[in-house]
Amino acid sequence: MREDYDVCVFDTTFRTNKYNLVCAPFVGVNNHWSNVMFACAFIADEKTTTFVWLLEAFLESMGGKAPITIFTDQDQGMANAIEQVFPNTRHRLCLWHLRKNAVSRSESTNHAIGFKGNKSTTLTEFFHIFGATVDRWRYQEGQNEFDCGNALPKSDFPMVGLIKHAESVYTLTLFRDFEKEFKYAMGCISTIDYMNGNFLGYKVQHESWPEHTAKYVAFDPSVNSIACTCKNFEESGWLCFHAIRVLHIHSIINIPEQYICKRWTKFAKSEVWKKMEQKEDNRIEKRKITPWRYEMVLRDAFTNAFDSIIKVLEAEKAAENESAQKAAEDVAPPSSSSSSSNAPLESHQPLPQITVQNPPQVKTKGRSKRTR
Ligand SMILES: [Zn+2]
Repeated sequence: MREDYDVCVFDTTFRTNKYNLVCAPFVGVNNHWSNVMFACAFIADEKTTTFVWLLEAFLESMGGKAPITIFTDQDQGMANAIEQVFPNTRHRLCLWHLRKNAVSRSESTNHAIGFKGNKSTTLTEFFHIFGATVDRWRYQEGQNEFDCGNALPKSDFPMVGLIKHAESVYTLTLFRDFEKEFKYAMGCISTIDYMNGNFLGYKVQHESWPEHTAKYVAFDPSVNSIACTCKNFEESGWLCFHAIRVLHIHSIINIPEQYICKRWTKFAKSEVWKKMEQKEDNRIEKRKITPWRYEMVLRDAFTNAFDSIIKVLEAEKAAENESAQKAAEDVAPPSSSSSSSNAPLESHQPLPQITVQNPPQVKTKGRSKRTR
């Protein structure tokens, strides 16, 4: 079983074989953002009960581990089954599928994963096609691993510490993504939004698309902790240009260790083997989680903490505004908020509900593969 099993794309291709069966491959991405095949099944229909049976069989074959995120198309039967069999898995609709209509779906899916089956394809023929596709993907993976071990990418910013660090840790594909984020970061305007204890809050927006790209970044320079309201790191595993902008203006020359997701590094494979070797020495509880999954758990906890802080600060700001308004109206003296900066978060409860408006998402970066 593969260990890079945090994200899984599961969809069905229509009846591209002689037996009128539905083909259902489970595909993931490796540290080079290339396809890997986890499993492939044939099912007779797309009913919830059929999907439940299939997902349970898949779960068993993966040692009882569910993926962290699963991307699917819009099939309701599949959605019901995922909820039942993978209750803790994040279920996302694959944008790539949403752009396709039902008629072109099977052709597109087959093309994307390299299956060239049609209504006259026999099971034996399909087996050979499937084997050839998996072999091709494995060969590509080996080639990518070799390239990453033997060459450093050429960057447009060879003197920048963050870029040099990214070059040394990320796979070539992921380095290009990081570099792209860095380029966007260089075109950003950042303004201090608030200061609270160790935390600095910035509003960061790209100068070319200020309304569409504005996000809030919370940064603690004492421990180099950073979080952005765009949640790119939590979703993708690499820092967004908002966060990179703030790190760069603070003269941070190494990507803080907690923001280098091992999953995207050149050492992803060796990390896996190292963990597997240590497996026998670990406690049973630890065995249940993959390296990436463990990171996700830690990251979620950290991000939740930051989210709370951002909410508290927004609430304080709103309370201050309200107080100022009341003072102006001579209704009541303004309440002091200065003593609250170092108080525990609990002391701020209950908080007024503040909604931070997110601008609409625009596609300003990245490859279409991200949404696969
Ligand atoms: Zn961001």
